[in-house]
Amino acid sequence: MLTGDQYRESLRDGRLTYFEGRQIADISVEPVLRDAVDQVAGVYDKFYSAEPGAINPLLTAPNGFEELKDRLPALHEADIVTNTTFQSLMTVLTASAKVAETNGEYVERINAYVDEAQRNDIRITECITDAKGNRAVAPGKQHDPDAYVHVVDRQRDGVVIRGAKLHITGASFGHDLMVMPTKNMKPGEEEYAITCAVPVSTPGVRIVNTTYAPRHPDSRHFPHTDGHHMPDGFVIFDDVFVPHERVFLDGETGYAAVFAHALGLWERLGGLAAMADQADMLVGLAQLIAEANGLSRESHIKEKISEMLIHATLVRAALEAAIAHCDVTADGAAFPNELYTNAGKYQGAAQYGLMVRHLHDIAGGAVVTTPAISDLENPDVGPLLRKYLSTGPEVEGEYRAKLFHAIRDLTADSYGGWHLVTNIQSGGGLYAQRIVTRRYYDMDRAKQLALGAAGMADGHMLI
Ligand SMILES: Cc1cc2nc3c(=O)[nH]c(=O)nc-3n(C[C@H](O)[C@H](O)[C@H](O)COP(=O)(O)OP(=O)(O)OC[C@H]3O[C@@H](n4cnc5c(N)ncnc54)[C@H](O)[C@@H]3O)c2cc1C
Repeated sequence: MLTGDQYRESLRDGRLTYFEGRQIADISVEPVLRDAVDQVAGVYDKFYSAEPGAINPLLTAPNGFEELKDRLPALHEADIVTNTTFQSLMTVLTASAKVAETNGEYVERINAYVDEAQRNDIRITECITDAKGNRAVAPGKQHDPDAYVHVVDRQRDGVVIRGAKLHITGASFGHDLMVMPTKNMKPGEEEYAITCAVPVSTPGVRIVNTTYAPRHPDSRHFPHTDGHHMPDGFVIFDDVFVPHERVFLDGETGYAAVFAHALGLWERLGGLAAMADQADMLVGLAQLIAEANGLSRESHIKEKISEMLIHATLVRAALEAAIAHCDVTADGAAFPNELYTNAGKYQGAAQYGLMVRHLHDIAGGAVVTTPAISDLENPDVGPLLRKYLSTGPEVEGEYRAKLFHAIRDLTADSYGGWHLVTNIQSGGGLYAQRIVTRRYYDMDRAKQLALGAAGMADGHMLI
């Protein structure tokens, strides 16, 4: 296993990574980016074991219901790149059962890769979303054939790929990029049906980072995001060679969507778990700021907070149901329930904007105009700011200011905007979750109940 420092060292591998117009020689010392490295390194140190053959338990398949249940809070506490590593490994293992139907060699390569990744304690990020060009046009018919990642050359011991994968969480902070098709491919689109693992340092790979990281010199202004941010990567594959042993699908169009679908389940479960905690956090902030403003007994405020806490409870209920109704395979591996995972993730994301609206409505304009804590410390204006921010003898100005800073940082500043969009788009977007929910919903039972209600079948008569 690697220590945090060994992880930092492993990033100095010649990778080509860029940030705001510059190529970054060492992301582990680059201001802004190094926070993300430190988060990942911290989790390496937390799980490090010098025991020969030891592997990080977070990177293994959960065995049965109890392990799946315990795994989620452990993953939630870990950094996002450890999460994408777990999800990537689960994805290829899940998909291997399907692709076995077309080529058993893929299964052998996948098993060898997973084993090696666990033993070498590497981190992997998920490269699914292509540039996509004109959304209404199929990959094989795009004006620019590189709009979707595809194979452009075949060599004796591997393939060469070209294209770009966008919005890739933590791409510069892992060791391997798990590349997979973003959707099903049709006959004639064989070159686009490519799944493979590519080391970040491979010649031809370039990553451009973006981040919502706070740039304010006083971290007290960003209590939530200070030190806790992970850049997204615009990953370019400019004729990148991938050896056969790292190719897990090549040309079988009918299996192209198998990987993205398997990934969606784990990714949405992670999103659902995060949303459950965030929803409770928003309720807590709404209640605290209502109390600090003296309005917690007002009926319209109570109604909004009630709506928020019902939302939070239902998101958590979906998470609990997704785990409680998990599918356990013959060899004991537990997979979250598709219906509850997708319906819960959809609901959590679709209603998030309304929950934030309630919070802003309750809190007031000071969410975006509260002076910095350093202003409160200024000898000239500080005492006056504290006086006017206070709402009574029990509510100090600084306490209220800190609540406003937390609300702004979480919901109304750089991270807040990023989060609003990410909730909607991550895990393939709301549309993807609607499709999967429909696929697993028991429509026959619903129709039977409806027929019963109409007195036309043996269904239950609804009162
Ligand atoms: C912060 C962040 C992190 C992310 N992390 C990752 C990651 O780690 N790895 C990864 O692979 N992806 C990641 N994503 C990408 C995410 O999965 C996509 O944003 C999402 O799938 C939508 O794709 P898009 O952004 O290209 O939008 P579009 O595909 O352009 O979608 C925009 C809208 O158009 C609709 N639409 C698109 N095509 C069609 C069509 N043919 N017909 C009808 N309607 C259509 C969509 O349903 C949607 O409503 C991340 C996204 C964000 C914002």
